[in-house]
Amino acid sequence: MELKAFIEQLPMRAVKPRKDGTFTVVPRMSQGKLAADHLIAIAKVVEEYGLEGVRLSTGQRLLIDGVPGAVLPEVIEKVGPVGDIYKHKVQACLGTTGCNLGQQDSMAVAAELEEFLNDYELPTKLKSSASGCSMCCGESMIRDVGLVGKKHGWTVSFGGNGGKRARQADVLAQDVPKEEAFEIIGRALDFYAANAKVKERTARFVERVGIKAVEQAVFGR
Ligand code: SF4
Repeated sequence: MELKAFIEQLPMRAVKPRKDGTFTVVPRMSQGKLAADHLIAIAKVVEEYGLEGVRLSTGQRLLIDGVPGAVLPEVIEKVGPVGDIYKHKVQACLGTTGCNLGQQDSMAVAAELEEFLNDYELPTKLKSSASGCSMCCGESMIRDVGLVGKKHGWTVSFGGNGGKRARQADVLAQDVPKEEAFEIIGRALDFYAANAKVKERTARFVERVGIKAVEQAVFGR
C-alpha cells in the first residue's frame, strides 16, 4: 500500500506530516492517560528506531516526532493504538480522581462528553474541556464547550476560544446535574450547527448572533 493510502486509512489525527518530510505519530490517549503497556511499546519504538524521544502537546497528547515515511507503517504497528476514535476531543483536569480541590469527576465527565459529542456534525473543529472545580485548570472558559464542577453540579459554558482572538465563554447554566448539562450543550450545538457559517468557530458565532439568540434556542426564553 502506498504511504498516502496507508495514512488515509488510519484513525483521525493519528499522523501529522512535518516540514522536514518526516512524520509525527500520535498515540491514542484519553484525557491525558496512557496505560503501562502502551507506554512501554512507545519507549521500545523510540529506542529501536533511534528517535529523539517524545513530546507533550498543549492538548494533552504525547507525540513521537521525526518518524521517517519509510518506516511509518511498521512504527505504527509496533506503537499500538494511534489517533482518535471520537471526532471531538475533550480535555480534562484531574478533578476528584486525584486533586484535593476537586468538586466533581472531570475526567469521567470528559470521557462521557467525548462520546456524546461524537453524534454532532459541526461546521468546524470543536474544543471542549471539563474542570473539576472553579480554579478551572482545564481552561474550560476558553473552550467552545466548557464544564466546570461546583459543589452542587456543573457550570456550562459556550463560545470560548484561547486562540489568536481569545474570548471568554458565556455561561449558559450553573449548578446543573451532568445529564442536564449535556442536554444544554446538545441544544446549543444544534443551534450552532444549523446557523453557523462554514468554518465559523463558536466564539465568532456567538459574537455574530449574540448570546441571547443562543439562550433563546437552548432555553426558549
Ligand atoms: S480545576 Fe480544580 S480540580 Fe481541577 S486540577 Fe485545578 S484545582 Fe484541581
